[in-house]
Amino acid sequence: MSSNNATSIHISCYTPISERLTVPLTNWEKSVVDYIPLHGVRFVKGTTRTAEGQERAKAQRLNTTEGPKPRTRYIDYVFKTYYSCHRSGEKRQTKPSKIIAAKDLENYKKKVKKIECTANLVATCYKSDPNNVVLHHTGNHNHQIGGLEDLKFLPLSQVAKQLIEQRLREGFRKRDTRISIQNHFLRYSQANLNTDVEQSLGNEAQVIVHRDQMKESVKLWLTELKENEGYDTFLADNFDSTFSFGFVSPWQKALLIESESVCLDATHWILYTIVTRHPWTGTGCPVAFFFTTDHSMLPVKHFLYFLRYTVHFLGWKKITINISIAERNAINSVYPEVVIQWCLFHVARAWMGKIREYIKLGSSAANARVHRAIITDLKRMMWEKDTSVFLPMLS
Ligand SMILES: [Zn+2]
Repeated sequence: MSSNNATSIHISCYTPISERLTVPLTNWEKSVVDYIPLHGVRFVKGTTRTAEGQERAKAQRLNTTEGPKPRTRYIDYVFKTYYSCHRSGEKRQTKPSKIIAAKDLENYKKKVKKIECTANLVATCYKSDPNNVVLHHTGNHNHQIGGLEDLKFLPLSQVAKQLIEQRLREGFRKRDTRISIQNHFLRYSQANLNTDVEQSLGNEAQVIVHRDQMKESVKLWLTELKENEGYDTFLADNFDSTFSFGFVSPWQKALLIESESVCLDATHWILYTIVTRHPWTGTGCPVAFFFTTDHSMLPVKHFLYFLRYTVHFLGWKKITINISIAERNAINSVYPEVVIQWCLFHVARAWMGKIREYIKLGSSAANARVHRAIITDLKRMMWEKDTSVFLPMLS
């Protein structure tokens, strides 16, 4: 089976902009455009200076200026083009096109594109190396480049779409990551198996894949990921009954191995994602995926075993999980040294549910007041590390 682009997951790692990049003269302008899909920043072309033009201006100056001749420097470049960040320029509030309410106006203001970003890019073709162009990135962006806020100011070209897809796959939204994996798998099934594509009423193509065919295709898919893309893949011994499998891409593996603290996140107890804080972007980044239809602790345990002994993921110290006894037991059996922490969000949500259920006063206003007070107290307790302080709080 041949590997083609349509069936490869392109989850690549986010790379920061390099300060100095040398690219061939033949397609250097494309390299500037490529900052959009690679880094999420668009550079707007400014002035260009050529050695020829500068020499001419210099000669003119020498002819017209009286008295001592101005000092001139040797021009070491063939041409130099200046670019500024697409969010540079004076903050300017464009008038809303129609009359909008005051609170909408507040939101409207936040959408200003020009925010006086001072980052620049200078493309220089040096005389000493006329076949290449050096892209020199200077200054700091005053916005998170490639962040969701920036996306709406980028041209919706093919490259911008690629960037959006890329960002979503990096895990800015877990739901989209899941959809992305599902779509990829779907495309794979369509390309490699005899599937019936049915046009449903809603005009959405549905792929009918037989259950056994589905299992077979997962196996083939994993083999391809492993052999052609260098993934670490996991297929449970009882895959045929539990549908348990997982994978880690090479760059995910690099991040995972460096992580000390991760979060095991279950989406509907079908897709498990191991998420870590990305060292560069600071956002949650999925570093391992695991599917199962079995809700017992065994599949999770086997997957963790795979992470420990195949991926060699050993350095973690703390793991945050949803409130799940099965998950806790699985972690304890494979990683007994790891500290398990319940996700505070889930703990708080469970508490609130119980408080609303058990504490009922006469009126809904009184209920809301007392619930709020209790929740505030409980949240404070959540962060208390000292048992001698915690226990009196409890009573
Ligand atoms: Zn910028």
